[in-house]
Amino acid sequence: MIKQLSVGGFDRNFSYVAWDDISREGFVVDPCGDITLIFKTLSEYQVALRYVINTHGHGDHISGNHEILRGNNAALIIHSKDSSAVSDISNRQEVDGGERFSLGNSSLELIHTPGHTPGSMCIRFDGGLFTGDTLFIDWCGYAQNKQALFDSLQQVVRQLPDDLIVYPGHNYGKTQTATLSHEKKHNPYLQEQDYEMFCERYLEL
Ligand SMILES: [Zn+2]
Repeated sequence: MIKQLSVGGFDRNFSYVAWDDISREGFVVDPCGDITLIFKTLSEYQVALRYVINTHGHGDHISGNHEILRGNNAALIIHSKDSSAVSDISNRQEVDGGERFSLGNSSLELIHTPGHTPGSMCIRFDGGLFTGDTLFIDWCGYAQNKQALFDSLQQVVRQLPDDLIVYPGHNYGKTQTATLSHEKKHNPYLQEQDYEMFCERYLEL
């Protein structure tokens, strides 16, 4: 199960609570903004928190880490290339992408998608794809490295199954979620398969 939470935050941020339906083991993605919404969801669905995952190290996506991690033994997961942002958290597991973490009988998969930041990741779980600031609905994130973002969108995100539901890091689209198939057809930044054209289009961001 996946719950999308409009937590406000820096700029229409989304946080997420996701869990395995049977074991109720779960994780939080990018805790920020109105943290009480996250706690409420965890308790309403009796989720046993195992992990807090940051899709990347930007301040607005990590601001709730300490509060969510207080008083439990959940581990923070972040890509090694963005981990300097959370060096103050000791129960931290740095990853490089490709790892799987189990939650009861389910598992989540971490996918390295650099570009917005060097350590940006997407998380695949239960038919959903948490895209952080790599991919928004019909839009994409600011590129710290344009070539890397283009490669991540084309060679990684575009290759994933059509029926995945995209759960972005910010509410910047006409809808709050969309299928990846919709994004492949309608998102100009995911659609553009030529790097030069991508750069031209990107200037309009
Ligand atoms: Zn960001």
